[in-house]
Amino acid sequence: MLTDLTPLAGVLGDKTAKALDKQFGIKTVADLLLHFPRRYSKRGELTDFASLPIGEVVTVVGQVQSTNQRSMKGRKGSIFEVVLGDGNGQLTLAFFNQTWRQAELHAGVQGLFSGKIGAFSGRLQLTHPDYELFDAEIIDQQAKAWAELPIPIYPATGTLSSWRIQKAIEKVLDAGHEAQEVIPADLLEQQKLMPLLMSIEMIHRPKKDSDWERATKSLKFHEAMLLQLGLLERRKNAELEKAAVYRSGALLSKFDEALPFELTPGQVVAGDQIAADLSKGHPMNRMLQGEVGSGKTVVALRAVLAVAESGGQSALLAPTEVLASQHFRSIAQALGPAVTKELGVRLLTGQQPLAVRKKTLLDMASGNCRLVIGTHALLSENVSFFDLGLVIIDEQHRFGVGQREALKSKAKHSPHSLVMTATPIPRTLAVTVFGDLDVSSLRELPKGRQPIVTHVVDISRKDLVARVWERVSEEVSAGRQAFVVCPKIDPQHLEDTGEMVPEPENLEPEPGPEPASVTSVFASLENNKMLAGIRIGSLHGRMSSKEKDEVMDQFESGQLQVLVATTVIEVGVNVPNASTMVVLDADHFGLSQLHQLRGRVGRGEHAGLCLLVSGAEPETLAFLRLDALSRISDGFELSEIDLDLRGEGDVLGDTQSGGRSSLQLLRVVRDAKLIQEVRPLAVALEKADMSEELKLVLQIQDAGQLARG
Ligand code: ADP
Ligand code: MG
Repeated sequence: MLTDLTPLAGVLGDKTAKALDKQFGIKTVADLLLHFPRRYSKRGELTDFASLPIGEVVTVVGQVQSTNQRSMKGRKGSIFEVVLGDGNGQLTLAFFNQTWRQAELHAGVQGLFSGKIGAFSGRLQLTHPDYELFDAEIIDQQAKAWAELPIPIYPATGTLSSWRIQKAIEKVLDAGHEAQEVIPADLLEQQKLMPLLMSIEMIHRPKKDSDWERATKSLKFHEAMLLQLGLLERRKNAELEKAAVYRSGALLSKFDEALPFELTPGQVVAGDQIAADLSKGHPMNRMLQGEVGSGKTVVALRAVLAVAESGGQSALLAPTEVLASQHFRSIAQALGPAVTKELGVRLLTGQQPLAVRKKTLLDMASGNCRLVIGTHALLSENVSFFDLGLVIIDEQHRFGVGQREALKSKAKHSPHSLVMTATPIPRTLAVTVFGDLDVSSLRELPKGRQPIVTHVVDISRKDLVARVWERVSEEVSAGRQAFVVCPKIDPQHLEDTGEMVPEPENLEPEPGPEPASVTSVFASLENNKMLAGIRIGSLHGRMSSKEKDEVMDQFESGQLQVLVATTVIEVGVNVPNASTMVVLDADHFGLSQLHQLRGRVGRGEHAGLCLLVSGAEPETLAFLRLDALSRISDGFELSEIDLDLRGEGDVLGDTQSGGRSSLQLLRVVRDAKLIQEVRPLAVALEKADMSEELKLVLQIQDAGQLARG
């Protein structure tokens, strides 16, 4: 009998176990059994090739229509081409120097074929695909049941095919395993759910469609229940945790008096909520979300002052060097020289000279520094605090759970924590990803902010693209400044991801024409007649922090009028005189990222203009994202749409690439209703006394989430 935690090597052999670990991080029996099929195919139903996403690993059911063996032009060697049909379209398989495959692959045979989908002279192609052919005899017998038996299609990779995963899972299922049932029998019956063990069997080995449908429903319920129980448990633990009590005093009131503006109503409310949290004696766990430019920093700074009042320390973690140094400068300015000195405000980044860093580390350890602003350098082992009371994470979506926890763990007692984001998160998502955290929202922008107009520019329309540069030159002539953002640093380089965790959609380089790069765009703009005489600079993550600072200073002071950059400028950068944002190959960026980028303009007295240049075809997801941006300026609304668009891909099952998230089947937006409905059931279950085994399950789940986060 296998248990959830049995390592796979003993069951499947070293080779398969290693491959599963390497490709998916699957280590144990539970990990493998929770690797659920993405969708189901049937032997009798050929996959529709038209829907295959280029660049993704796919698994298709196809039938060989014809084959062709020929020698390669102008080179040694042969190429064996196989044309698969789906009833409508065609997909070519190409094998180099593998003549022997002719014996297996001939017209009429059917099977599963898997590989990364490419386009070759306008046709879809799999090069050296892996495949498993269906047994010809059974096809001939036309066993109807067999043709209709659902075949699970697993998230797979180029080296680990869906059917190899399927075989590994069958082996584990055959060996028999235990699973901890969380949901009591009467509740299972009342909700018409399958028991856990049966659901796991049926999601992997359904006999008919209704089997996996019911299994999926049951497992989702199970997952929602675990989620809610975990959250309840965490909340209970949090209530037991003690934290320092901080009350604001003279530092804050002086700061407020000197503020050059009036706080927005949202800032006032958020400030009150935070003040209440800090005085409760339990750790604050709050998210502050608000549009780009809504003024989150000043809210955080007011919390810092409350903590500093009684000598407590605060750390502000920012995702990039550019942002950390900008925060440092603007916070020092907001506090004024006297308070900055009194609090010992310091900057800590990995690129500072060692001597500077050492001095800062010393001040942090001795308590002389009551506010440190830094990048991930704050997370390194040699960093310690005298009395860390408040952890602030800016642009939290750029950090993983592990990084947030690493900073918190530097406090001797549980610190208060405030995470800030301009990528608003629907409440359900916030709760599931961050635990039971409280949310403050800044829904209005400070007075006097200008609207931003956004247009999508079709890259194939030369006249429109020329108009983009004309607009830039008009803005500059009117005394304003412009950003030009590119997905890459230089033509050879992979996409620049700033210094922190990249957004997943940027990991895979897109096929097709080379995306715009900073170096090549910079060179071409210097020679662009329309921009003659305009001072252009460039900025990207591979420059030293000194160079970056210099360029940013020059741009902030107006010495540079146009800045060609990667997304290093995505977060936080504040240049009120910048009015225009041009994003080249905008479809290479995620929706929230584009929204952030756009927020860099329209921050001063001038209306903002955002031009998204893209070659995305209408109807594609990439195009829909851009279209949504051009119509909608509210970040909250966009975040719902973003999840919706992403979720859509999942429903269609067309992104078959791997990757694990802490949630298996639940989708926080689509399943929001279920997650909420399960809440009271979880409360009841928890009251009815949770078994020790169940507590263990929750702990394991929690640990797993941390490890993956
Ligand atoms: P974000 O929420 O994007 O981090 P910031 O905190 O960087 O926004 O604020 C953007 C700008 O708005 C800063 O220059 C800040 O000083 C200014 N600001 C913040 N609050 C107000 C306010 N209530 N009225 C006017 N300006 C404000
Ligand atoms: Mg900010």
